[in-house]
Amino acid sequence: MITQCETSEELDQLVERARAYAKEGKVADYIPALGQADPNDLSIAVHYTDGRCLAAGDTEKTFTLQSISKVLTLALAIMDNGEDYVFERVGMEPTGDPFNSIAKLETMIPSKPLNPMINAGALAVTNMINGNTVEEKLGRLLAFVHDMTGKSHITYSSKVAESEFKTANLNRSLCYFMKEHGIIQGDVEELIDLYTKQCAIEVNCNDLARIGLVIANEGKDPETDREIIPRQISRIVKTFMVTCGMYNASGEFAIRVGIPAKSGVSGGILGAYPNKLGIGICGPALDDKGNSIAGIKLLEMMSARYGLSIF
Ligand code: GLN
Repeated sequence: MITQCETSEELDQLVERARAYAKEGKVADYIPALGQADPNDLSIAVHYTDGRCLAAGDTEKTFTLQSISKVLTLALAIMDNGEDYVFERVGMEPTGDPFNSIAKLETMIPSKPLNPMINAGALAVTNMINGNTVEEKLGRLLAFVHDMTGKSHITYSSKVAESEFKTANLNRSLCYFMKEHGIIQGDVEELIDLYTKQCAIEVNCNDLARIGLVIANEGKDPETDREIIPRQISRIVKTFMVTCGMYNASGEFAIRVGIPAKSGVSGGILGAYPNKLGIGICGPALDDKGNSIAGIKLLEMMSARYGLSIF
């Protein structure tokens, strides 16, 4: 288990250059508890398959996964139900719409969410996680996070979860629409309870980089070689990260950065460079698509400097 990451003057300089862009962004406040984050924060951890790691900024500071959790629930739902079951209910195509859009749910035939990285698709995926109660399902998701990070104390922030639960009316609308069309089953309030708790799972940049590393390493713990996610499922997850991970900015991100990645409105970005490294970033000031503005700049600079595009 990695305890201390190396620092690098070069990475520190890139972080400082990228941080300057934070002032052009805005912290998400539609979930009131997220509005308290410091827009100037920016930190990064990079973990390599050979056990080395690099860090810059305050990488021990915690933040919530938000939409990054969609990657984990997708992997778990496929492990629970198989690919066919999951993709009968959720599509595989990017939308070009904002992450919380309801528009295409009505116009798509058959009526199912276009992909698992937008809210509608993620809610449908969370609805497929095995377990009898919200606690049991959440417990399984947390155990999965513990396996990936090697840290068994990771849990969710009840403050952030409650704050989102009280204000999640758009997500409730998506759920009721999908329930009407038979895409989701069961109690919508319970689903929103589980979803807001999964989004509120609290990590730091090192934890996030470790999650990225397992995904990058074809689903295996790089230290023990133990399989946490089957190889084929880790491949599906990485592909969705490329096509839909940065929402309706995924195309531009693929060109400018070229690393499978997933963002969240807390300002987190998870990166997984196949067979090489995992990245965890947090920079709470967001651009108009809901992605960390300084985080994306930092990845752009790193990709250009170190030739990190997978393409
Ligand atoms: N919990 C957030 C929501 O559903 C996640 C969205 C995001 O990170 N883009 O609105």
